[in-house]
Parts: sequence; structure tokens; C-alpha cells
Amino acid sequence: MKINWVYHNNYDIPLKENHRFTSTKFSDLFSELKNSKLYENAIINNPSAADFSELTVSHCLTYINKIKYGLLSYKEERKLGLSWSKRLSERSFLAVNGTLLTANLAIKNGIGCHLGGGTHHSHFDYGAGFCVFNDLAYAALMLINNKIVKKILIFDCDVHQGDGTARILEKNDNIFTCSIHCKKNFPLNKAQSNLDIELEDHTNNTEYLNEIQKTIKFCVNSFKPDFVLYDAGIDIHKDDELGKLNIDDVGCLERDILVLNFLKKLSIPVATVIGGGYSKNKEELAIRHSFVFNAADQVFG
Ligand SMILES: [Zn+2]
Repeated sequence: MKINWVYHNNYDIPLKENHRFTSTKFSDLFSELKNSKLYENAIINNPSAADFSELTVSHCLTYINKIKYGLLSYKEERKLGLSWSKRLSERSFLAVNGTLLTANLAIKNGIGCHLGGGTHHSHFDYGAGFCVFNDLAYAALMLINNKIVKKILIFDCDVHQGDGTARILEKNDNIFTCSIHCKKNFPLNKAQSNLDIELEDHTNNTEYLNEIQKTIKFCVNSFKPDFVLYDAGIDIHKDDELGKLNIDDVGCLERDILVLNFLKKLSIPVATVIGGGYSKNKEELAIRHSFVFNAADQVFG
């Protein structure tokens, strides 16, 4: 089966050199995938920009306007961790819709993979931790409001807690938020997801994969979602600059295969987003972000 990928040429974020966030990580990932054997089995889809009224499902209009017109204060920009630019604004409106498009393609085909997304630190009225708009909350609410699906599990395996997602969705009973993250990592003040699994520093492959297996099984069996949004953050990697876990390449790929395989067996469609990943070595980072595309190809291809 061909796998649907979602990508836009304007995803990169213009940033000063030596910024923690690799500004070209989206196009680096696309090049990495284009040069791999996965490419011939992929269909490339491009999102359009989300519009104002739609974005208000997950964000307040004042904040959306601040992003659109560059009205963030210095303090707000610092919290976001990115400087405002027209390009940043444009790519933020594209990327949220990218996750929604990936979700719709996944619901139709069983799987869809976004070469972006996972901006889970973005809150209702402010951005934080390199996250402008919350694509996970936005996509999930759009799907529920438009009655595309009834119950959504957001399975967030980024090394950081999905605090923005948890807060935006805390009153929504049709969306279950699960975050499996490193306990002593950003954000300092954690939110309350429907289920939080906190991992100790230096957690290894075996301990980690056991937790993932137990948790996906629990979430699916107890909540019975008809769709899953999977944040395959790669900052769990042992060489990640912001992560504190001890997961190697094999462990990262195994995690993705495990999650996708489990959902495929139960015929629950799943959309993947790339989530966090931090390294000065752009090639290594692109390879790590490509694991989830490899896993999708192995499980669904
Ligand atoms: Zn992260």
C-alpha cells in the first residue's frame, strides 16, 4: 500500500545560526526521505493554510492575530523561543492544517504521516517551547466537531510533556490525552493529561518499550478510540540535546513499529507527527525523524 505523506516547501523556520531549533529540519527530513527507498511508495500531499475562524477551535482570536500580524511582545517571543517573522507566521498556519490533512488521509487509508507537527507546548492563548499553534488539539477538535470520528486518542511520546494539548483539551471527554515523557524535563510546571507516564532520566530501551507497550494497550482498551494521533517525538534519543533518556536508534524505530503495529492489528487508523528532535548534526536529526516513516512503511507498506 502507498503511504500518504504531508509536507509543504515553506515548513522551514528562518532562525539565527546556532539556534537550538534546527531551522531546516523539515526540508532536511524531506531530502532524507526523498533519497530513501520509501519515496517510491509514498504519495506527497500539500496542506493549505488554516483560516482564522477554524483556528479558534483551539486558540483565542487575540493570540491568532498576534501571530498573523507580528504583535507578540518581547516576553511572549521569549516564551515561544522563536522570533516572529512573516515566514514563521505562514508556516504556522500551514502546519496545523498539515496535521489535520494527515489525520483525514489516515482515517481514509489507515495511516498518514506528517513531515511536521507535534507542537504540543502551544496553549490556548500563548505559544511556548518552539510551538506556535497546537496542531494536535486543533486537528482533534476539528475532527470531533465535524463528526469525522467520535473518540480520539492523542498518544504523545515526545520526551517532553504535551502540556498545551492537555490544557486545551482538558474539558473534552471525546479526546483522551496520554503523554509519556521524562519527569525531570521541560516544562517545569506540568499540566494534567488524562494519563501521564513519567520516566526517569537514563531510561533504557527495554524499560521504555515495556512502558510504551503497556500504555498503548491500556489507552486503547480502556478508552476505545476510533482514531489515534501519534506524536513520534525523537528527542527520546540518547544523543538528543534536550532529552535525557537513553534510547538508541533501534529503540526509537522499535517504538514506532510497536505503536503502529498494535493499532493496525485493531484496524484503528493512525496519523503520525514528527514532534521534537534536537541536534546540531542535521543529517543525524533527519535520519532520526525518518524512523517513523520507515515504521509506517514496514507496518502498512
Ligand atoms: Zn520535545
